[in-house]
Amino acid sequence: MLRPAAMNKVLLRLLPGAALLLAVTIALRSPSLRAGLSPLVPAYPLVVLGGGILLGWRFDRSRLVLVLAVLLLAERALQVWAPIEGGGEVGRAVFGALSLLVPLDLAALAWLPERGLLARHGRLVFGLLAAEIVLIAVLCQPLFLPLAGRMDAPRGLGALSPASLIVFALAFVVLARRAVLQVTALESGAVWSLVAAFLALGAGGGGLDSSAYFATGGLILVLSLIETWHGMAYDDELTGLPARRALNEALARLRGVYTVAMIDIDHFKRFNDEHGHDIGDQLLRMVGARLADIGGGGRAFRYGGEEFAVLFQGKDVDETRGHLEALRRTIEDSPFTLRGPARPRTRPESPAPAAADRRRIAVTVSIGAAAADRSEPSAEEVVRAADQALYRAKEAGRNQVCT
Ligand code: GH3
Ligand code: MG
Ligand code: MG
Repeated sequence: MLRPAAMNKVLLRLLPGAALLLAVTIALRSPSLRAGLSPLVPAYPLVVLGGGILLGWRFDRSRLVLVLAVLLLAERALQVWAPIEGGGEVGRAVFGALSLLVPLDLAALAWLPERGLLARHGRLVFGLLAAEIVLIAVLCQPLFLPLAGRMDAPRGLGALSPASLIVFALAFVVLARRAVLQVTALESGAVWSLVAAFLALGAGGGGLDSSAYFATGGLILVLSLIETWHGMAYDDELTGLPARRALNEALARLRGVYTVAMIDIDHFKRFNDEHGHDIGDQLLRMVGARLADIGGGGRAFRYGGEEFAVLFQGKDVDETRGHLEALRRTIEDSPFTLRGPARPRTRPESPAPAAADRRRIAVTVSIGAAAADRSEPSAEEVVRAADQALYRAKEAGRNQVCT
C-alpha cells in the first residue's frame, strides 16, 4: 500500500492532465464556447500532434513520437472514413478496429525501452503500426465488411463494444500501475492520453469532440515532456530535492529578511571510502528526505556533493535556530542501517529480529546559518557568511549548528 505522502505525490502529478481534459469537456458541452472554438478544432490535432511528433523526433523520444503517431493516425482515420454521419460500413469497420487497437497500442508502447527511434525496438514498432494500418485496410474490403455491418453505428460511449471496453480497462490498469510505481510526468501523461483516446472514441466517429479529445491527449503528453525537462534542469536526480540552479533563482527573487543555512555531512569521504559510493548515495538520499521535512517553512536544496542548503523566507537566524537544531538531532537520531546480503527482497509479514548482518552507523551533519538583515547584503554574501558559519561548526567539532 502507498503511504499517504506518496499517494499525494501521485495525485499531484495527475492533476494537470485531469484539469485539461475537464476544461475541454466543459468547452465542448457549452454551446457558446463550442461555437466559438469549432473553427479552430480542425487545426488543433494537426498542430499539437504534428508539432509534438517533430519535437519528439528532434530529441529522439521514441515513445512520445509513437504514441502521438497513434493518436494522429486514429484521429485522421476517423475523420476521413468514419465521420459522425454517413460513415457507412467502412466507417464502422475502421471505428471498430481502432477502438480495439488504440488502447492496445497505448498500453504496449509503455513497455518500449527508450533507446531512440531508429534503434531495433523503434523500427519494430514502426513495422507493427504499419501492419495495423494494413489490417484495417483489409477489414474494409468487401469480403470482411459484413462483419463490420453487425456493429452498432459509432455514436456515443455505448458505441464502444464490450471487447473494446475490456481492452481499455486493461490498458488503464497497466498504465495506472506504472504511474503509481514511477511517479513521473510522462507516466501520468500516458494515463491521461489513454483516457483522452477513450473519450475521443466514445464520442463516436470523427467529429469535433473526437478530434478535440485526441489532440488534448497529445497536448498532455507534450506538456509532460516539457515538465520532465524542467525537472532535469532544476531538480537533483539522486535526492529529488531542487538543485543549485533552483536555489540561485530563488535567492535572486528574495527581498527583505531571509536566512540561508548550509548543511554538510560529517566525514562523508570516510563513509564513502569504507562503504562504497552506492551506499554513500543511499545516505545522501536519506539526509535529503530528512531535509525535505524540515519545519519553519524552510525549503531544502541540494547544493552539490554532500552539501545541502535550506532557505527560510521572512525569518531571521534566531527564528530558524530551533528548526535547524531539530534537523541536526533528527539526523543524529536516525542512524543509517547497513543491510547485508541476507536482506529479504520483500517486506516480511512480521519484523525479523535484528539480523547479525545489519549494522547501524551514526550519521551527523554540521550546519551554518546566516541571515540577510537590514544592511541588504547580496545573496552571494549571505551564502558566504553561512559557509563561514558552517566552517566554524566543523572546527568546533562537527555535529552542531553555528550562526
Ligand atoms: P567533513 O566532515 O569535513 O565535511 O569531511 P567530508 O569527508 O565530509 O568532506 P569532503 O568534502 O572532503 O568529502 C566530500 C566527499 O563527498 C567527497 C566526494 O567523493 C563525496 N561525494 C560528492 N558527491 C557525491 C555523490 O553524489 N555521491 C557520493 N556517494 N559521494 C559524493
Ligand atoms: Mg563538503
Ligand atoms: Mg562533509
